[in-house]
Amino acid sequence: MAELPKKIGFIGLGLMGLPMATNLVKKASDDAQLYVYDVVQDSIDKVVKEGDGKVHACGSSKEVADKSDIILSMVPEGSHVRSVYLTPDTGVLASDIQSKILIDMSTIDTGTSLTVRDACAEKHPKARFYDAPVSGGVIGADKGSLTFMMGCAENDANVDLLRKLLGLMGGNLFACGGASLGLTAKLCNNYCSSLIAIATSEAMNIGMASGMDPRVLANIFHTSTAQSAICDDWNPVPGLCPEAPASRGYKGGFKVQLMAKDVGLAVDSAERVGVKLALGKAGLEVYREACGDERCRDLDSRVVYRLLGGKEDWREEFPEEVAMRRDETRRLLKRAKEEGL
Ligand code: NAD
Repeated sequence: MAELPKKIGFIGLGLMGLPMATNLVKKASDDAQLYVYDVVQDSIDKVVKEGDGKVHACGSSKEVADKSDIILSMVPEGSHVRSVYLTPDTGVLASDIQSKILIDMSTIDTGTSLTVRDACAEKHPKARFYDAPVSGGVIGADKGSLTFMMGCAENDANVDLLRKLLGLMGGNLFACGGASLGLTAKLCNNYCSSLIAIATSEAMNIGMASGMDPRVLANIFHTSTAQSAICDDWNPVPGLCPEAPASRGYKGGFKVQLMAKDVGLAVDSAERVGVKLALGKAGLEVYREACGDERCRDLDSRVVYRLLGGKEDWREEFPEEVAMRRDETRRLLKRAKEEGL
């Protein structure tokens, strides 16, 4: 099994990066050291303070690369990734990185990722650049249970090392086949789940407007062909999943602006590879509209239910006593399914 380097670099300490870096410090070996950089000094100070002497502040991405054996980055968009790696004098590639490994975990367009990879290969032929975006959100970053989609083949020379390092921050690690395919996997997942959220919102709306108790309808989806993680765990209708952002005023979760960015990138990818889309552009419009709507901006992306006019205070109209109890409904539906009814 590959040995983990002792000096690890981390660039981008935002909502995701901060808890991920914190997990790295906690779980790496006792003598491991973390070198960090963010354009926001407060974020650096926070992780250094919590780092128990094992986290060291740097003044640029280049300094992180100078001091570390392996470098991770987690920044918002392609322009930031370019800035982190390609800025002359202060970017990662300005450092004499020799055969170091660079891993970008941001969700960005595949074109930018391949450009950075090519620039790395040209300037530092022995170094390796990988895309490795994540899913699981801030909660997964906190718990160290993220899914990583690695842009490499299963037989890549560094795959064991990637698994060992990324495994300190996540549970499910997939080698997606080659460079930029980690990003492809991530964008396909978010494309699909974003459209399911719109479809679930619309279907719940139709049902409720026709007089259907949303609890009963969600239970029916659960045991029927409309079943999905969005319906079961992230339902856009407030009050159906107590843990879901919708039940907390759409706070927390995955911001609607990030979803709009990812759907936009997926639609661009479809155009690039010549895939016909029936739903993508319409879905993208919905997310873009939500970004510009002050009732939705900065909230969890499932807030599209609100944008589409979904009823949020439905309890008065559908009181508990007239609804079939959730457990009872599930039991009856399960039995009906088993009996092939
Ligand atoms: P964020 O905006 O909270 O954090 C990004 C951090 O990068 C900020 O601290 C910012 O100051 C820093 N940064 C920007 N430019 C920089 C530069 N040139 N050099 C150094 N630091 C720089 O964003 P986030 O929510 O942590 O998301 C990061 C990435 O992860 C995005 O691509 C996002 O799509 C993806 N992602 C986010 C989530 C989520 O739930 N938030 C889930 C999965 C994937």
